[in-house]
Amino acid sequence: MTIYNFAAGPATLPAAVLQEAQRDLTELPGVGMSLLEMSHRSKPVVDMIDRAEDDIRQLAGIPDNYRVLFLQGGASLQFSMVPMNLLTPNGKADHIVTGNFANLALQDAQKVGDIRVAGSTEESNFDHVPSQDELDLDPGADYVHFTGNNTIYGTEWPAEPDVGDVPLVADLSSNIFSKPIDVTKYGLIYAGAQKNLGAAGVTLVLIRDDLLERSPESLPAMLSYSVHAKGKSAHNTPPVFSIYILGLVVKWLAEQGGLEHMEHQNQGKAKVLYDELDSSEFFRGHAHSGHRSPMNVTFRLPCPELETQFAGEATAEGLVELKGHRSVGGIRASIYNAFPMEGVRVLVSFMKEFERTHG
Ligand SMILES: *Cc1c(COP(=O)(O)O)cnc(C)c1O
Repeated sequence: MTIYNFAAGPATLPAAVLQEAQRDLTELPGVGMSLLEMSHRSKPVVDMIDRAEDDIRQLAGIPDNYRVLFLQGGASLQFSMVPMNLLTPNGKADHIVTGNFANLALQDAQKVGDIRVAGSTEESNFDHVPSQDELDLDPGADYVHFTGNNTIYGTEWPAEPDVGDVPLVADLSSNIFSKPIDVTKYGLIYAGAQKNLGAAGVTLVLIRDDLLERSPESLPAMLSYSVHAKGKSAHNTPPVFSIYILGLVVKWLAEQGGLEHMEHQNQGKAKVLYDELDSSEFFRGHAHSGHRSPMNVTFRLPCPELETQFAGEATAEGLVELKGHRSVGGIRASIYNAFPMEGVRVLVSFMKEFERTHG
């Protein structure tokens, strides 16, 4: 039976990437040793990390005045590293709260410094993101933090918030490289790799050079962007294997046709699912149209019992990990870059059949 994995992260990886990693696991071609047993100071490993960085720069058009960092601690460590590094002495920052991870980012940042909520959609259970005129932005803030795609609620910002000259910081863990991106709009972007970029264990950080100067000397080395940038992500032992997988995924994205092609693919996949939600009285989508995520499609059935039954019967058919996040319930289909259109079509057939027999 073909398994279609709708997990929100760690998530489906391109089969070609897994096969290449398996083939080269015991002996990296031309080297005769496994990447897993080589020094991070050795030439093959340094070259591999440099190549991953170059490929990322090429894929996303990252300007020269941005550093590409491969860090550890997950996207979650960035919740506190961002304020530790980017808040100026006695400075303050704005956060926009559009979901569970945005809330966690806020909570950690508030432990570090003076953080204000500049907008929130919590009152409507995060079924949309704020419009520009709903934002109360402080022009004197050190930065504005927002979450580009809300993995648990299934919403995505249709465009970045306009924050004027204040540096924009984004958690793009669940939609990075799912579409073209204008990096120059951002001061800092971070993304845990295990949704759209590869395996868990590495977090991609893109940071504009001028912001590196804000990292206080007093910060412990591992928490300082400036230290990681100077060390070219190898201040200590980096997660070499996770960077390698990330590099393979980025190479795969380029081979598919790049980010414009991925956007086209992702929109196509999402449309099949959202069209089904729109044409049904039985399934109800959570996100407002216009703010719907192409990555995480969230919906409800008439009652929680039917949702449990739906997820259970789907699993038996090889459609796995459809249960919504424990904090919201319902059903969530995560269909990141590597998730195939065929799996979406199989899910929609299953939904039609389930509605016919239980509706
Ligand atoms: C999954 C996720 C996180 C948490 O990532 P970790 O790497 O597990 O820390 C943070 N933000 C968003 C938007 C996510 O989807």
